[in-house]
Amino acid sequence: MDAQSSTKTLQHFIGGNWVGASRGETFEVLNPLDDSLFCYAAKGTSDDMRAGVEAAKAAFPAYRGTTPSQRERWLLRVAELMEERQQDLIDCLVDEIGSPVQKAMFEFTKGLTMVRAAAGLCRQVRGETIPSDMPGKFSMSVREPLGVVAVITPFNVPLIKTTRLVSNALAVGNTVVHLPSEMAPSLTVLFAEIIAEAGFPAGAYNVVTGLGHEIGDELTGNKDVSFVTFTGSSVIGQHIAEICAKNKTPVTLELGGKSPTLVMADADLDKTMPLAARSIFMFGGQACIGTSRFYVERPIFDEFVKQFAMIAGKLGMGDLRDPDTVIAPIISERQRKRVKDHIADAVAKGATIVTGGEWVGNRCQPTLLTGVTEEMTVCKTETFGPVTSIYPIDSYEEGLELANDTEYGLSSAIFTKDIDRAFHFAKNINAGMCHINGPTIHDEAHVPFGGNGESGVGREGTDADLDAMTELKWVTVQL
Ligand code: NAD
Repeated sequence: MDAQSSTKTLQHFIGGNWVGASRGETFEVLNPLDDSLFCYAAKGTSDDMRAGVEAAKAAFPAYRGTTPSQRERWLLRVAELMEERQQDLIDCLVDEIGSPVQKAMFEFTKGLTMVRAAAGLCRQVRGETIPSDMPGKFSMSVREPLGVVAVITPFNVPLIKTTRLVSNALAVGNTVVHLPSEMAPSLTVLFAEIIAEAGFPAGAYNVVTGLGHEIGDELTGNKDVSFVTFTGSSVIGQHIAEICAKNKTPVTLELGGKSPTLVMADADLDKTMPLAARSIFMFGGQACIGTSRFYVERPIFDEFVKQFAMIAGKLGMGDLRDPDTVIAPIISERQRKRVKDHIADAVAKGATIVTGGEWVGNRCQPTLLTGVTEEMTVCKTETFGPVTSIYPIDSYEEGLELANDTEYGLSSAIFTKDIDRAFHFAKNINAGMCHINGPTIHDEAHVPFGGNGESGVGREGTDADLDAMTELKWVTVQL
């Protein structure tokens, strides 16, 4: 038996059928822990992507006519099936993208709430009556689904992004074509199996696997796609925005970050320190909302750095299925090079590695840098690894100015007991999200999640997606 026949090969899910790539080709998906082969996946072509869009388009007229209670029942069944297949989902998150089991469980639990929250959305697709200046005119707005929604997801939180975006799109009556990350297709294929078993009509949800740079434009540029929701890097987000602008296709972009956390001298360090570590090192720093810049008031700077280094040095780097393991392998060789380059560039230009900087296999030790200056790449560019810089500040005003000195604007945080200052920060930080006395890494199903500038356009979450994935129609009746 050759390797390919003994290893699982994922197929597309189009129009309710499991199909291989039209050219019969596959690509390899590697386990990032040791770069061993995890599975093969259908290498989609432009024809395959068009077939996915056609299936979603064909299913839309009937699907939009389904009742809220039908869609609610299907989504609640998805949540039940996720619970039944919890171990499969966890195993997939561990072995396909190298999630430590604690991050995989976090993602699973969040994913469940995403689906259940979406079930509640089915009954919220509402318009309103509008008083008219014309005598006898009854005037109203009617909220309608858009049609085919394109969902494009990244590798790092595939279950959270898949459950949230797909469930919200389906809840409000759209059909979906999903291009998952080429580094995490199994998770999405598992979700498609669950969607099929839950009873969703054929064509409501379609998955086309493949290399995004080869087939992505066919999806985002397809005139039958009515809305695009993309999560990934800012560079690809920019490319997608340009394509969508040409077709006037509305788009939500959830992109990269360089999120800041301010730690003021009055912060309770006992409470702050574990949260600071959580802010960056979860999943080995591969989180868009991770804090890659800490601004710490000078009176507590040395103590903060000392305690942070102690915590970082103790973070688990063992077996991914050990609940104490925190540090994950970096997803790909390209991404490992990026992390190494950022650290080497900083050190070459005079930064100090307080702790970390070494590699154990494909895992980078939690790394704290001080003495980082503007000329260093790590200062302003997203690293997407377990690396963060700690800067001393002489005042809150200086911290706020430095925190805002970035093209990104995703998450942010401040630790302080001064409520006036905390609210001043929340009001003046240029970021889509701000957490007072909490870590930058935080998400819930129903909150407006998203960023500004290079971090994206639009928000996601039940209410935001309801708004973005539907359109209002004005209807009048002359009585
Ligand atoms: P990526 O940009 O490399 O890939 C994301 C997706 O884009 C993949 O599904 C890929 O197949 C697809 N793609 C590639 N080329 C395409 C094209 N031309 N057209 C359409 N799709 C295309 O990102 P990644 O490495 O998977 O994820 C890491 C990045 O995602 C980081 O920058 C991180 O900050 C960001 N991210 C943001 C959020 C958020 O909510 N803001 C959440 C998670 C990750």
